[in-house]
Amino acid sequence: MALAIYGIGVSRGIALGAAHLVRRNRLDVQEHLVPPDQVGAEIKRFRKSVRESRDELQLVRQRLPTNTPAEVIEFIDIHALMLEDSSLIEGPIKIMRELSCNAEWALNVERGRLRKIFEDMDDPYIRSRMDDVDQVIDRIQNRLHEHAAPVPDTPGGSYPGRVLVADDLDPADLLLLHHQGIAGLVTELGGVLSHTAILARSLKIPAVMGMRHARSLIAEGDALVIDGDRGVVMADPGREILKHYRERLKRIQRRLKGLSRIRKRPARTADGTSICLQANVDLPQDMKLLDDAGADGVGLYRTEYLFLNQPEAPDEESQFEVYAALVKALKGRPVTIRTLDLGADKQVDSRRAPGTAPVNPSLGLRAIRMCLSDPTIFVPQLRAILRASAFGPVRILIPMLSNTQELFQVKHLLQAIRRDLKTQGAKVGEVQLGGMIEVPAAALSARSFAKHLDFLSIGTNDLIQYTLAIDRIDDQVGYLYDPLHPSVLKLLKMTIDAAAAVGTPVSMCGEMAGDTSYTRLLLGMGLRDLSMHPGALLEVKQVINDSDIGKLKRFCPRIMRATNPLRIAALVRELNER
Ligand code: PEP
Ligand code: MG
Repeated sequence: MALAIYGIGVSRGIALGAAHLVRRNRLDVQEHLVPPDQVGAEIKRFRKSVRESRDELQLVRQRLPTNTPAEVIEFIDIHALMLEDSSLIEGPIKIMRELSCNAEWALNVERGRLRKIFEDMDDPYIRSRMDDVDQVIDRIQNRLHEHAAPVPDTPGGSYPGRVLVADDLDPADLLLLHHQGIAGLVTELGGVLSHTAILARSLKIPAVMGMRHARSLIAEGDALVIDGDRGVVMADPGREILKHYRERLKRIQRRLKGLSRIRKRPARTADGTSICLQANVDLPQDMKLLDDAGADGVGLYRTEYLFLNQPEAPDEESQFEVYAALVKALKGRPVTIRTLDLGADKQVDSRRAPGTAPVNPSLGLRAIRMCLSDPTIFVPQLRAILRASAFGPVRILIPMLSNTQELFQVKHLLQAIRRDLKTQGAKVGEVQLGGMIEVPAAALSARSFAKHLDFLSIGTNDLIQYTLAIDRIDDQVGYLYDPLHPSVLKLLKMTIDAAAAVGTPVSMCGEMAGDTSYTRLLLGMGLRDLSMHPGALLEVKQVINDSDIGKLKRFCPRIMRATNPLRIAALVRELNER
């Protein structure tokens, strides 16, 4: 029977596919299909890893000191016995034969099957023994990892058309899985502003997050429909439901086709004000989307994705190649390269000294703070960006500024690097320097920042997080996320007005810029430059072309004066219907 499960729709669209269940901390396990003639070799590799795991335990057992407590000895014996148990060994072998998959994958499927059996047990003690099964399976996985088989380049990836159901997922994992061909994503944790959600939108992967207990309600292989627009997942949908979703998919495709007609038209309001619409780029391959959307340039290139899933930080040369390619591909349109915004939910563990995990990563050594504290990572990036500026207009954007001192440090560094590059004979173009306004302190002092910068860019994702004190990746406080909160609106208006007062251009590159329900409000507040995920650009352009700036400007003060959130929401709806 069909089951509807509700969560938070974070990436629009509809995906249909079979469920694949994963646990985030086990995602580094490579799962892929193997050609049928190599299944035998894969089974051998698996048996070898089981043998070695057993030997390993025996060795541990032999080396135990004489005063070892009996329960520890018992625990090791139980694990050794489980490794003798043919069902734990034969189960995955059968799966490898049936699915032509690698040993790691088969072992994880077996883990899921056993978990279901254990969860159905009445006796709490027996249920808790699943932990032992997990540990034994992890031991074998570790061994398999040491003898990892080469990953065949399966056309379409290892999860073609599958819908991934995970407890949690970080952006680095999502990148890997996208490469493996997943069609949709469901997570138990996470919210609309998490970087994983932003990335899912950018990769056009329909996604629903914050779906608590998803992995206990959905079983491996279940047929799923993900409705990213409505935040619902249908498990085991019947024929009628499938028909309904296939028709909706067709309607969506028709709407997108209709929108593509305005691709080449300028974004200009009905009363003649031109608006600059730029694209946010997370991955260099997003360039194709950018052209499809007819963007005026790149308003935000999140460089941190170059650093994820890499054992080492990319060096100056490899960064230069990526940035230069981007600048050349834009053919004269500006490229805004944001310096590294690592930290918070974009962690690269290799950059952190052991034992220094931040207690509160969003408030810790993130973004510009991390860069200024570690010139070995910041200087090569700045050098690479400056060198790329020889090929076209480049703007550098500094994330998470909270005081002007940080900005002066960056300016000094840039001057010194520019001098060095010149003496080394490297070509460097003119580069504009901008700062992100995404911390309330920066919004409150926007005028001081605007005086010393060539442009400002408002990052509403973090500005809302820090203003309302809600962790953007915590779905439990997601209900407090409100771009229309009067305090958020005040900070936006202060920033826009402060920039205008000193003649510094200001844009917005947070998710709010790509949400059509706020387009008219932002225009009325004075914004003329918006940057968003390319997939949102044409819809925003459509709203702009149907708007009259004069009317919006006259209406917006009413919204700014209102203090009741319900009243503000009602006024914004009224504005959108005009
Ligand atoms: C923002 O905070 O609004 C922003 C654009 O930056 P990010 O989402 O990468 O933190
Ligand atoms: Mg930000």
